[in-house]
Amino acid sequence: MAVPKKKTSKSRKNMRRSHLALGKNPMTECPKCGEMMRPHHVCASCGTYKKREVVKKEAAKNA
Ligand SMILES: [Zn+2]
Repeated sequence: MAVPKKKTSKSRKNMRRSHLALGKNPMTECPKCGEMMRPHHVCASCGTYKKREVVKKEAAKNA
C-alpha cells in the first residue's frame, strides 16, 4: 500500500479543507404567497406545491 512520505501539516490540511464548507441554503420565492421557500419543496407558509394545495393551511385561505 502506498504510504505518504511526509506528514500533512495542520496548515496543509486546513488549506485543503478550505473548499469543504457547506454552501448557503438555496431559497426561492413562492409563486403563490411570495414567501421565501426551499426549491422543490412544499411551501411552508401556504402549503402549496406547483400552485396546487398539498397541505391544508387556514392562513392560506384568508390571504
Ligand atoms: Zn407559499
